[in-house]
Amino acid sequence: MFFRPEITALQGYQPGEQPKEEGVVKLNTNENPYPASDMVYTTLKRQSERKLLARYPDPLATSFRDRAADILDLPGPDWILCGNGADDLLTIVTRALVSPGQYVRLPYPSYILYETLARIQGAKYQEIQFRPADWSLREAFADEAVESLDDLRLVFLPNPNSPSGTVVGKEVIRKLASEISCPLLIDEAYVDFAEEDCLDLVRENEKIMVLRSMSKGYSLAGLRFGFLVAQPHLIEQFLKVKDSYNCDTVSIAAATSAITDQQWREENRRKIIATRQMLTEGMREMGFEVPDSQANFIWNTHPEIKLHPIFQMLRKNHYLTRYMVYSDWGPESTIHGKPTGEGLRISVGTEQQIEQCLALIRKILHKGN
Ligand SMILES: *Cc1c(COP(=O)(O)O)cnc(C)c1O
Repeated sequence: MFFRPEITALQGYQPGEQPKEEGVVKLNTNENPYPASDMVYTTLKRQSERKLLARYPDPLATSFRDRAADILDLPGPDWILCGNGADDLLTIVTRALVSPGQYVRLPYPSYILYETLARIQGAKYQEIQFRPADWSLREAFADEAVESLDDLRLVFLPNPNSPSGTVVGKEVIRKLASEISCPLLIDEAYVDFAEEDCLDLVRENEKIMVLRSMSKGYSLAGLRFGFLVAQPHLIEQFLKVKDSYNCDTVSIAAATSAITDQQWREENRRKIIATRQMLTEGMREMGFEVPDSQANFIWNTHPEIKLHPIFQMLRKNHYLTRYMVYSDWGPESTIHGKPTGEGLRISVGTEQQIEQCLALIRKILHKGN
């Protein structure tokens, strides 16, 4: 009764479980299995020794913006807005662009937070389903016809997508942005494991914004730092919407060190991609269908076998994965009683974790047959 109807109606975002026990292998929330660059830990130590914490942080995170603009070859630091994780920036962008009653558009299945943010805003959202066969975008994604043209205010596109790990090609994105009249936010949370990114499109088209996270590709999910790349006149407006001190002194310093160490990023990326390949091949050998992933996780479906029991057996053996059902979407199931659109998302762990996980799944399948 105290709350706005939008809030009472809300289910609330359900993050993946973060178990307290030791010995659990976490392959459920797409964290990076390796520790961050040594430069980050050196910086963290220095930060805690100095008496910086009595002061407010730099509201613009200037050190990070300067360094990132340089490394990413952007025209200047005014093309970057820093946030308390990429999620903070999704909130800022939604609040700044979408009024109650207006529309956001998102693909389905994808990242659940977009819908939650639209609902909190009192906005409407339009889900456009990926084609189940190959996770490509339907033409409707570029369609202007949401009630009236003016109502569509923001389009989200995670690329690579979650839970599939698949990508939409750059040419498709370029064309999409030219066809819609509102901003297009390319969520590149997983781009550090992909073959190409859309940063250069931001210069070409003011409607294109690119979102980045330090959580996955830089192993800093616990730190909370992300950034948005957009043309300066947009960044200027978003700055008005963010909390004055949305990034803290410690995370700004650590994120600056992390992005500086591009050698660490390259090596980490190589390891994850090699292990992803091993995981993908191993699952396919067992009859799972796995779309080619460019992220640090893979999406597994199976034409015959029910996946929930496998998920539960893995869990019992201390391997956490993510079981998801998109009951209104997906390839039709062939077995009676098997939910349609169900899948098992497995994050890429260390090589050893993935070898053991594959062995465990083999064992589970063997017993079941
Ligand atoms: C993880 C993730 C984010 C959030 O990243 P944070 O920087 O940890 O807030 C945003 N979008 C997608 C698609 C993600 O998977």
